[in-house]
Amino acid sequence: MSATANVTKLDFYEVLSVSRDASDAELKTAYRKLAMQYHPDRNPNNPAAEEQFKSCSEAYQVLSDPERRAAYDRYGHAAFSGGGPAAGGPFGGGGFSGNPQDLGDIFGDLFGEMFSGGGGGGRKTSRVQRGRDVRYDLTLEFEEAVFGKEREITVRRLDVCGECKGTGAAKGKAPITCTQCGGRGQQRFQQGFFSVARTCAVCQGTGTLIVDPCQVCRGETRVAKEHTISVKVPAGVEQDTRIRYGGEGEAGKFAGPAGDLYVVLKVKPHAFFERDGDDLHCVLPISFPQASLGTEIDIQTLDGAESIKVPEGTQSGREFKLRGKGVPHLNERGKGDLIVEVRVETPSKMTKQQRDLIRQLGETMTVNNAPHARGLFEKVKEIFS
Ligand SMILES: [Zn+2]
Ligand SMILES: [Zn+2]
Repeated sequence: MSATANVTKLDFYEVLSVSRDASDAELKTAYRKLAMQYHPDRNPNNPAAEEQFKSCSEAYQVLSDPERRAAYDRYGHAAFSGGGPAAGGPFGGGGFSGNPQDLGDIFGDLFGEMFSGGGGGGRKTSRVQRGRDVRYDLTLEFEEAVFGKEREITVRRLDVCGECKGTGAAKGKAPITCTQCGGRGQQRFQQGFFSVARTCAVCQGTGTLIVDPCQVCRGETRVAKEHTISVKVPAGVEQDTRIRYGGEGEAGKFAGPAGDLYVVLKVKPHAFFERDGDDLHCVLPISFPQASLGTEIDIQTLDGAESIKVPEGTQSGREFKLRGKGVPHLNERGKGDLIVEVRVETPSKMTKQQRDLIRQLGETMTVNNAPHARGLFEKVKEIFS
């Protein structure tokens, strides 16, 4: 009992992580939480958890009793050890030698059937498990994401074994009752003052054993198979859009429900267009004469040719919006816009003639090299877009 004696030296309020003026309800909540966490049934072969469980149980047993709590508040642990006023009480000797009946009451109250000492037969674990979800990354061309596309994908996943239909047993051989636990799925162990139910290690708590496993799946109940699935990519999907196909994931063990298939869309970049939500952006180089004198430029959008009227005196960076020439809204009517930003290109390789012409032009122009007020350029862009 020496380990337990050490544990009892911890402050009961600290053990339950409550304040000294915690109400009965707060105590109960705190205790319930801890006891659930450290309950031996949930922590098999974990002595540390068992100690935690014991100390929180002890703390709760004292603090939930008004008389004992008052004594503890006044005298601390001494209240329950050899020399204290309450000597001879259930905690006499400092160890947790309290009578199991009291504990049973607490547990019966808190856990109902879960408590191993209260309710007789333990609960059986079901072999049946839901299958895992399966993820498939599907890479799309930029246009496929914009306009939608039907694509076939091949998914490798675990399917219910056709031979045993998910029972795991060979044809005509049913599972037998577990010889270790007699079909209860649990085994009881006496641990100090309380009895602990542990999941039967032989049958994993299911209460049955498969002695003649299916030859095809070796008792696993599932086999890997490839499936071709037609994926309907709707128009307007984006990078990382997920499409869920319920029940198209991994089959569950022992014919449990299947998981889901998530097709995660990856979109390749486009050579010219960049997406911003449902708007498309592109940069269009224009020459200085085009920007100065104005022009009309044909551009190839994702759905057909369009022309842009560049007015006289267009500044570099000006944006032109082509309404409804962007990406269709996903699952909605309408489309985003295409925004074309023009960039005036400064000629860098010029003939002598061009150089002379530009020099002549320069001589006719008044130049103002004073810096722009900050933000002016952005304002200009706003006005024009
Ligand atoms: Zn099988
Ligand atoms: Zn068993």
